[in-house]
Amino acid sequence: MPLIVQKYGGTSVGSTERIMAVAKKIIAAKSQGNDIVVVVSAMSGETNRLVNLAKEIAEPPNAREFDVLLATGEQVTISLLSMALTEQGCPARSYTGGQVSILTDNTHNKARILEINDQKIRNDLNQGKVVVVAGFQGVDADNNITTLGRGGSDTTAVALAAALKADECQIYTDVDGVYTTDPRVVPDARRLEQICFEEMLEMASLGSKVLQIRSVEFASKYNVPLRVLSSFEDGPGTLITMENNKMEKALISGIAFSRDEAKLTLVGVKDRPGIAAHILTPISEANVEVDMIIQNKGENNTTDFTFTVHRNDYTKALNILNDLKELETKEILGDDKIVKISLVGVGMRSHAGIATTMFRILADEGINIQMISTSEIKISVIINEKYLELGVRSLHTAFGLEEAQKPA
Ligand code: ADP
Ligand code: ASP
Ligand code: MG
Repeated sequence: MPLIVQKYGGTSVGSTERIMAVAKKIIAAKSQGNDIVVVVSAMSGETNRLVNLAKEIAEPPNAREFDVLLATGEQVTISLLSMALTEQGCPARSYTGGQVSILTDNTHNKARILEINDQKIRNDLNQGKVVVVAGFQGVDADNNITTLGRGGSDTTAVALAAALKADECQIYTDVDGVYTTDPRVVPDARRLEQICFEEMLEMASLGSKVLQIRSVEFASKYNVPLRVLSSFEDGPGTLITMENNKMEKALISGIAFSRDEAKLTLVGVKDRPGIAAHILTPISEANVEVDMIIQNKGENNTTDFTFTVHRNDYTKALNILNDLKELETKEILGDDKIVKISLVGVGMRSHAGIATTMFRILADEGINIQMISTSEIKISVIINEKYLELGVRSLHTAFGLEEAQKPA
């Protein structure tokens, strides 16, 4: 019998009515002759509520206890969904991450899945049950509860699909697929029939949170057929494919953006071998991830050194710089009102000049570019946050993303 892993996100299970509706959808898929394993997120808003509760008590909260707290959100949903299924005549069983044995490493708050024991799930499926698993959580080797990072239920679903060798992993959410850009920012955005893993990975890591990055990595590594669909309406959704076939010959496949950016600049820092390492070592030792880096030669053996970090790490990074010894610098500047916009497309590989077009489009809107970074299949710019919507919309229109794209 074909096996499908379905994942329902927060909005999809945001109320008991929604949970009843999801149960109906699951029963319909099962009655078509499929075995079904379901992964659910916490009800919408719940994880944020828990995060805020913790912050009222400690900041940062103890990582282990924080995971114990965060994992409760999903536990509520698995039980309610199993009740809804049973109530509608479909035998079901719920499991927390620990109960089905989703073994992770011990990096609290962003743990990695190491191993899944599928025995319990297989037994239940053999008895005709639907298995409902809590997303976003697991346990480490010492049985401590761990969580997988925000958006982690996607990764639970893909990891289960890989472990069970499922025929498809379906991610049900509040949009009906992966779009050329976030449809909440560009209402004209177009749903993609398919997108290849390489591009999806880039979109996810540059800010398109429709799929957690790790879930895309996992699916690509274990060859899991992955589809993003709406839990509210029927439709084909978007298939994430291994191959970049004809649809993807488009120059640009999508525009990703991230509001979680902040930058720090050391102005007129004494230029000497080792200065970059001197600045960035304490930053990485504090577990702050650095994204873009720019160093410009200035006058009199000085240099301007700028780098970006996640906005949540901004104050931490600024404090580290201010405490840095043996740093002869004129000034340390910080700006946490910046955003990153990125064009993504494997088609860029074979085309020069896209960056120039991008910069021209932004210039025509009077948008100043503060930093630039490129790779073979993406171009990212940092701009002031107040121009985010304008920038994304202008680029989306100028690159013709809302129209049906003709294969090249
Ligand atoms: P869930 O709770 O189901 O996991 P998420 O909020 O994590 O849902 O992800 C779905 C959201 O991702 C959409 O509501 C949409 O606003 C956002 N999103 C960002 N970029 C894209 C994109 N390129 N295509 C589709 N949705 C996107
Ligand atoms: N509930 C978790 C979060 O809000 C995990 C998820 O929804 O994927 O991040
Ligand atoms: Mg999500």
